[in-house]
Amino acid sequence: MADLEKFRSETRSWLEANAPESLRGKGNADMDAAVWGGRKAKFATPDHKVWLEIMAEKQWTSPMWPTEYGGGGLSKAEDKVLTQEMAKLGLPAPLIGFGLTMIGPTLLRFGNEEQKKEHLPKICRGEIRWCQGYSEPGAGSDLASLQTKAVRDGDEFVINGTKIWTSYADQADWIFALVRTDPDAKKQEGITFILIDMETPGVSVKPIQLISGKSPFCETHFEDVRAKVSNVIHEINAGWTVAKALLGHERTMISQTFGGSRGARKGRGRLVEMAAKYLGEEDGQLADPVYRNEVAQMEMDVAAFRYAAQRMNDNAKAGHQPGAESSMFKVLGTENNMNQHELMVRIAGPQGIGWEGEGFEEPEIDLTREWLRTRGNSIEGGTTEVQLNIMSKHVLGLG
Ligand SMILES: Cc1cc2nc3c(=O)[nH]c(=O)nc-3n(C[C@H](O)[C@H](O)[C@H](O)COP(=O)(O)OP(=O)(O)OC[C@H]3O[C@@H](n4cnc5c(N)ncnc54)[C@H](O)[C@@H]3O)c2cc1C
Repeated sequence: MADLEKFRSETRSWLEANAPESLRGKGNADMDAAVWGGRKAKFATPDHKVWLEIMAEKQWTSPMWPTEYGGGGLSKAEDKVLTQEMAKLGLPAPLIGFGLTMIGPTLLRFGNEEQKKEHLPKICRGEIRWCQGYSEPGAGSDLASLQTKAVRDGDEFVINGTKIWTSYADQADWIFALVRTDPDAKKQEGITFILIDMETPGVSVKPIQLISGKSPFCETHFEDVRAKVSNVIHEINAGWTVAKALLGHERTMISQTFGGSRGARKGRGRLVEMAAKYLGEEDGQLADPVYRNEVAQMEMDVAAFRYAAQRMNDNAKAGHQPGAESSMFKVLGTENNMNQHELMVRIAGPQGIGWEGEGFEEPEIDLTREWLRTRGNSIEGGTTEVQLNIMSKHVLGLG
């Protein structure tokens, strides 16, 4: 305990001395300012870049990964202290992305030494951005039906096929993909998990526009793309095991991102601020009793989720493989996010359905687009229906 208190005071002093002034108090709420890293990295301000560099140097972009792979080697308790101290200063995460949350933990478990040494430090330094090549035009919920074909040619695979809904493929440097290496085997048994550099000849991406007006995902084509056999994670034709393990990490990440559990919150949240603005306050509380009740219920749901999810989050960061509980948290977290946005739009009334033009403030237009974006929450990372199936089978033992 004394050691932990020493760690806390050293961490506090270090953050006080090193964290850029301009980022203090910003927290993680502004997703547009989040740093994803990669060869095409974009930074909302120069201080966001400085913050990434300082934290990468300290090896605290992934505080609990082993130090030899670029992590901080912190214990669960120390990581918690770091998170708390960062939250006290309202500091944003220095780096986010599928490297830290999906492929990194998967490599720690299934990668060989060479693969870990090659990829993990680059993830921690924010040098490489990753995307996920799972879904195909004919394979979503029934992912094992995927048809992207990889044929062996010496020490390489030649890959042909199409992936769809590949989030940020146009921004990513590498893709982790599922390919069919044995068309004759039972469908789950002919799949291989392979890493591909997006700059390899034959890889092309076409952005798809979403209802929110943004294009965060793409169709990704592979035409005679060559990838080394040494880029296979785990074993050839044993990719389904890796794929399922990664989905546990993905669902954990989605529940944390959308469920409101990323970092501590300071002051009144956005929902309460909005309710006060559009509905007014009387005697320090929301004037409208019906909405007051709804807002209070929503705030309680989000807080309850935050505390319940904290344990899963701590375990996931420590390298623990999430089980079926990740399906439960994915459903709860995304439902909270969707419900919260619905409520904000209702509270804003006509101002909550602005698309463009005069008569709407920028945050109002942002809200409409964010609300539309939340419609995808019940689909991404596996649909709600599929998560309910997983829970009935693996948690409740039905069917
Ligand atoms: C915002 C967003 C980002 C995404 N990012 C990525 C990404 O980066 N990489 C990637 O590979 N994929 C990505 N996806 C794709 C996502 O994983 C798939 O959309 C999802 O798995 C569903 O597959 P589908 O769209 O083919 O729908 P389908 O599988 O065709 O499902 C259609 C409907 O049928 C229901 N259904 C299907 N099977 C069952 C069943 N057995 N029981 C009950 N109901 C069922 C579904 O719940 C759904 O309502 C993303 C999707 C979204 C929305």
